[in-house]
Order: sequence, then C-alpha cells, then structure tokens
Amino acid sequence: MTRRRRLRIQERVTCRDFADFLLSYADGELAQAERVAFDAHLAICPDCMRYLAQYLDTIAAAPDAFDDECLADVPDDLVRAIVASRPGTTG
Ligand SMILES: [Zn+2]
Repeated sequence: MTRRRRLRIQERVTCRDFADFLLSYADGELAQAERVAFDAHLAICPDCMRYLAQYLDTIAAAPDAFDDECLADVPDDLVRAIVASRPGTTG
C-alpha cells in the first residue's frame, strides 16, 4: 500500500487535480505521464500557471519553511485552503 495518492490520468487534468499534485509537480516527483498531463494543463490554464509561479516564489523566498517532509505530506485541508484562496476560478 503506497502512501502517495496516484493521479488517474484522464483526458484532461482539472485545476483541482493540479492543486492536489502541485507539490509533487514542483518537486519533480511525478511520473512522466503525469507530468506531461500537468504540463498540458498549464499550457491552457493561466490560473494554474500563476498558482505554480506563486508557489515557486514562496519556496524560493523561504526555503527553510518547506522541508522535504512538509512537501511530501500536505494535509488536504491546506490544499483546500490554498484552492479557496485563489481569486475567481474560470474553469
Ligand atoms: Zn487550471
């Protein structure tokens, strides 16, 4: 039994999928097929592109606040809070 949830690759990745897997994406932990799916979503979704950029800025500004254990196990509540804090969703 693996602790990490698996992304079920479908035709399209949703913004929710991206939010759920953002940390793994930024950390380079996604499988090739998963990464390709998210790259395709980023190409068509400015919201997620901006969201990713903000996340990368955040960890660049405060690397000590994001150690590997935190990156690996972000509570769903936090993910939901991050998603909820995004200004209007278009998709
Ligand atoms: Zn999106």
